[in-house]
Amino acid sequence: MAATMIDGKAVAEALRGRMREAIAALEASHGAVPGLAVVLVGEDPASQVYVRNKGKQTVEIGMRSFEHKLPATASEAELLDLVGKLNADPDVDGILVQLPVPAHISADRVIEAIDPAKDVDGLNPVNAGRLASGLPGLVPCTPWGSMRLIRSVRTDLAGLEAVVVGRSNLVGKPIGQLLLKENCTVTMAHSRTRDLPAVCRRADILVAAVGRPGMVKGDWVKPGAIVIDVGINRVEAPDLGEGRTRLVGDVATAEAALVAAAITPVPGGVGPMTIACLLENTITAACARRGWVLPVL
Ligand code: NDP
Repeated sequence: MAATMIDGKAVAEALRGRMREAIAALEASHGAVPGLAVVLVGEDPASQVYVRNKGKQTVEIGMRSFEHKLPATASEAELLDLVGKLNADPDVDGILVQLPVPAHISADRVIEAIDPAKDVDGLNPVNAGRLASGLPGLVPCTPWGSMRLIRSVRTDLAGLEAVVVGRSNLVGKPIGQLLLKENCTVTMAHSRTRDLPAVCRRADILVAAVGRPGMVKGDWVKPGAIVIDVGINRVEAPDLGEGRTRLVGDVATAEAALVAAAITPVPGGVGPMTIACLLENTITAACARRGWVLPVL
């Protein structure tokens, strides 16, 4: 039987609808709405698209959007100075510095400079530590979006075997922590894992966050598993015409879909959840900082 395709676009759209209502209610009771500041350094075309989409979606759900653009030549000190100003600005609830930053700037130092209470990317070591300690905090957006997709097909995850392939601070590690919090038995796999196919075949929940197109084959998937494909890889697609490309995930989707119970497509799976969860984090940050009751989203 073919797997259910988990529709990330629809889940994200439904979340945005709930957030729109929640923000209208916050405005009615407090006379203010959350604000998200996005900082872009340089002119990387992909980053420009992301930043534009973030700004557009922020405004569409009724929040305030602040965009700050610095030239690629901006120094680390200039960027840290801007982050300091945003930390102190009472209208700003969330701060996101679009990564990657130019090579002469330390992304780690910039992330550490963001007030953890406004760190809507969830990458500041304070928030990473809070997640690892099981304390409330701001969780990275793609992992949080992946969990929302898993919960869209199965709510009780206790006791399930979860395998996460990839151990980055941005994706793999936080997803592992979130699955552990849901009482899964979690295995973190990576480039040194021995017999990766066999490890993956144990998984009731298999998350691929690697960056290698189609690496996870159909026969790596346990029958009935939930498969979350975080990978976004651009590959050549001569079938579409000369020089054309397409986006594919880390999972060989067609093969895996013959075995899995549910699977996320690429594009249209995890990808659309990331910005929606960034907006959710901004609401969470605003409520914590301003002492508002957090709406159920
Ligand atoms: P990183 O490059 O930071 O991490 C990749 C991880 O994969 C590492 O832990 C690495 O292991 C592991 N890995 C690499 N090769 C293998 C292999 N052959 N077998 C097993 N493990 C391997 O990537 P990210 O975590 O940042 O991103 C992962 C993917 O997710 C990318 O495709 C990225 O584009 C995508 N992504 C998608 C987002 C979305 O919105 N949907 C957001 C962010 C990322 P080791 O640690 O041993 O080197």
